[in-house]
Amino acid sequence: MFDKILIANRGEIALRVIRAAREMGIASVAVHSTADADAMHVRMADESVCIGPPSGTQSYLHIPAIIAACEVTGAQAIHPGYGFLSENANFVQIVEDHDLTFIGPSAAHIRMMGDKITAKETAEKLGIPVVPGSPGGVPDVESARKIAGDMGYPVIIKATAGGGGRGMKVAENEAKLENAFRTARSEAKAAFGNDEVYIEKYLQKPRHIEVQVFGDGQGNGVHLAERDCSLQRRHQKVFEEAPGPAITPEERARIGSVCAKAIGEMGYAGAGTIEFLYEDGEFYFIEMNTRLQVEHPVTEGIFGVDLVREQIRVAEGLPLSFTQDDLTINGHAIEIRINAEKLPNFSPSPGKITQYHAPGGLGVRMDSALYDGYSIPPYYDSLIGKLIVHGRDRPEALARLRRALGELVIDGIDTTIPLFHALLSEEDILTGKYDIHWLEHWLAENM
Ligand code: ADP
Repeated sequence: MFDKILIANRGEIALRVIRAAREMGIASVAVHSTADADAMHVRMADESVCIGPPSGTQSYLHIPAIIAACEVTGAQAIHPGYGFLSENANFVQIVEDHDLTFIGPSAAHIRMMGDKITAKETAEKLGIPVVPGSPGGVPDVESARKIAGDMGYPVIIKATAGGGGRGMKVAENEAKLENAFRTARSEAKAAFGNDEVYIEKYLQKPRHIEVQVFGDGQGNGVHLAERDCSLQRRHQKVFEEAPGPAITPEERARIGSVCAKAIGEMGYAGAGTIEFLYEDGEFYFIEMNTRLQVEHPVTEGIFGVDLVREQIRVAEGLPLSFTQDDLTINGHAIEIRINAEKLPNFSPSPGKITQYHAPGGLGVRMDSALYDGYSIPPYYDSLIGKLIVHGRDRPEALARLRRALGELVIDGIDTTIPLFHALLSEEDILTGKYDIHWLEHWLAENM
């Protein structure tokens, strides 16, 4: 069992991990950049170590400093949160080489899923349905034209090493293909240092449905149903809910068991998310994320389980604390992502929080590292809080979200809160009738 773990992250997710550790009787070590000396995760952890200057590459991504922080404090394991080093197979290898435990899957599984072409091949072998597309990387415009022509337009060109919605370009027809191909390639090169791209059929009006899975690393896998994350801006999620309003119990059981079986067969350890596009009753795999997701609390809401606790247990070599039969859905949960951004352009809005008041009451959870007087530094992600509500059914969750949003106060900076006030009076949101393009269209018309 671990006595002490280090959290290689910041913000709300660092708090999330510290809280789980504390409930398990495990001490926590925060690491931070000089810009984060006053951050909440530093205050809340049992110990903290400054690991470098503000820039992420010199702090939260600086592997030697993080390993040194473990050695100085005697932490036995590292939780990476999401983002930063959470899907860096090289980091996992280095952690293990130092006789430390990485709280997450093996380097091999991370590597396999980090390369989206290999991920799709693996998914197909495991019986998971995938989006039709090129058989592998597409080397040049001529091959791209041939593949897209055979498959039929529109197509989407995606970076093999992609993530965060970057390095992705849609070509509606052949005239637009060359430009889309070249742009995707150069974006991929700039963002990931790898310009390999592949081509997929561009689905017209799918929903983004992702299945939460867990493996014990011993050949057993379970699924915790799906989240609908279709409300996106620039391929980035802004509102997530579980269970998916468009998914029937039969579809859930079918795709869930395919995913659980695949995770078991892979020998996967820990939390993972298998992402699909869903259209006309069919699921199409797009990628797998080998980490805890930002939106994991909606799954925790409907199942009443602590996914971080489970991650830590699996890393300790313990079995999962639930079986598939133990997992039954209770009610409905919704999360909204609150960013320090100014509408209508979503431009970054860092600065000092003059007043912060978190909502409360039955079925309300606010995961945030904000406090009165805190200054949001300009160097990192703009996510400053997640408001999660749970209700007995979807209408109750929506009513609770509206009520909780009314209580939330974040003064001193601009945030995306007004966006959610507006969305909560849209009929399509209230009835759950939206696809991955809904929000972009709505923004174009309303902002
Ligand atoms: P990333 O890893 O950058 O997040 P994903 O492959 O998960 O990229 O895709 C992110 C989003 O892009 C999806 O949720 C969806 O909105 C859109 N997308 C990706 N692939 C397709 C596709 N084949 N057809 C239509 N939309 C797609």
